Formats: sequence, C-alpha cells, structure tokens
Amino acid sequence: MDVAAALALARRRGVDRLDAQVLLAHHLAQPRTWLIAHDDAPLPAEVQQRFTADLESRAAGAPLAYLLGEREFHGLRLAVTPAVLVPRPETEVLVDWALALLGAQPGEQTGEQTDGQPGAPRVIDLGTGSGAIAVSVARRCPAARVSATDIDAGALAVARANAQALGCAIELHQGSWWSAVAGQRFELALSNPPYIAGDDPHLAALRYEPRHALTPGGDGLDALRMIVAGAPAHLEAGGWLLVEHGFDQGAAVRALLVDAGFETVQTRRDLAGHERCSGGRWGAGPAAESHVTGSRGTAGGDAKHAT
Ligand code: GLN
Repeated sequence: MDVAAALALARRRGVDRLDAQVLLAHHLAQPRTWLIAHDDAPLPAEVQQRFTADLESRAAGAPLAYLLGEREFHGLRLAVTPAVLVPRPETEVLVDWALALLGAQPGEQTGEQTDGQPGAPRVIDLGTGSGAIAVSVARRCPAARVSATDIDAGALAVARANAQALGCAIELHQGSWWSAVAGQRFELALSNPPYIAGDDPHLAALRYEPRHALTPGGDGLDALRMIVAGAPAHLEAGGWLLVEHGFDQGAAVRALLVDAGFETVQTRRDLAGHERCSGGRWGAGPAAESHVTGSRGTAGGDAKHAT
C-alpha cells in the first residue's frame, strides 16, 4: 500500500480527508505537505497497520485528538488521553477573560518564574482535565501562582505531564471541586465543569470522552451549582469566579452568581456567538480594582496591575 492507496482507503471508510492526511502524516513522522509530493511512497507494514486501525476508530467516532495523542489549545500543544476531555476552542474564551483580569499582555510568553512571591495572584482551575486552562494561564502569566484540581488521578497525570512539558509550576490537588483545596483562598477561580444535561442526545456522539467530564447528570447545572456555592469560602474580597457553560445556560448561571452574592455578573460569547462563559466578582467594594491582584503583597509590587 502506498500513500495514495492509503488515502483512497480512508475515503472509502468515510473518514474526512484532512483527518486522514493528519493521521497518515503523524504515523510517517512527516509534515502533511510531504504526502502530496510522495503519492507513490510505499508504507512500512507497521505504519499501514496503525493507520488502518486508526481509520476504523475514527470512522466509529473516536476524536482525532485521542488518536494523535495531542491537541492544540490557546497556541500550546497539549498531550491528551481518553482520561481527559479534548480541549475545545470555546474554552479559550475563558482563558482570554482570565488573562485580561490578571493584566497579562497579549502574546506574552513564559518568562522568569515569579510565582510564589508575595503579591502573586493565586489562581485555581477546578476540574482541570488535561490542564488546558491552568497551563495556558501559567504560561501567559508567569507571575500567577496557579493551582489545579481534578477528581481523577488519571487526569491529574495528564495535567502534570503537560505542565512539565511546557515548563509551568502548577500545584495539583486531587478531589471533587472545592474539597480538593479546603481552607485555601484565591484571587481568581476558573472552571470548565461538566454541564451537558444527563439526557442530552449529543452525549452519544461524545461517548469516547470521560462521561463525568461532560455531564453531572440531571439538568446539567449541578457542578456549576457546587462551584458557585463553594466559591465565597475560597475567594478573597475582589476576587473573580469565571465558569464555562452550555450555550443555553447563560441566564441560569448568571442567576446562580447573583443569588450567591456576586457582583458585576456578566457573560462572554464564543466565536459562534453563543453565551459560553459567565463570571462575577466576589465582595468587591466601590474602590475595587478592575484587575485581579494578589492580596498578600505590598502595594508597590502590584502597582502595574492597578487601574
Ligand atoms: N463544550 C463541550 C461540548 O459540548 C462540553 C464541555 C463540558 O461539558 N465542559 O462538547
């Protein structure tokens, strides 16, 4: 079998042309463009074997990210396994909002690690999965002290590997939502929790991903309810909670935040125009700053964030 025959086989199996090219290039350890110039290159037997196995999985609905073992998110290449939700582009809305609150400069890359110093804003990502949110924030805002939780040890192993590969120091804690960080407070709390309703027919198409990362069951809001309810005990005054939610859950999540006593409650839309993330500020007085800053530092250390 040569390259052309392999891609023809993919077509017959009903696998998307670009997916097939990406998979074949991956197994050949070549850039995708190489395939076009090497139509008649014979495939080594083990490449043929792995590629045809992947075609079957892809045709059955396995996410391309699991077959490749990686996914790009917020400009970073993250390792993913079936232990974690595949990072979605919508979640970049949450990261961008967090970075704006932290006063990170757009495009700023990791620099000198300054976390842990007095005044470093403390950030928590609840239910981190692959670590997508925590690692993106830590990379773009090296001054932040970033923690992340997950209930699943397998997910924490993926998050740990991603943090290490990308050179970020992230404190990882195993446990359900806030119980993983009992007694700790943060200036910024972030989460992309499971929010699909338990009887949503879309879950069938997502069957390869961990179910507990997609749905809390019921109406889909239970995890968001727990995160909002626990936030006041874990946020400093003036701190923010930002959460991702379903396209039709904006009003419900804003109501949860307002009822819990959050201020400046607002929602951001994703690129498709859907309400995707909502957040609010906890216990901010009239003189509150518009950026999140660490509460333990000296005024001077935080001056660049104050507006
Ligand atoms: N946005 C994902 C989807 O609908 C779900 C992610 C989540 O539940 N946090 O496929």
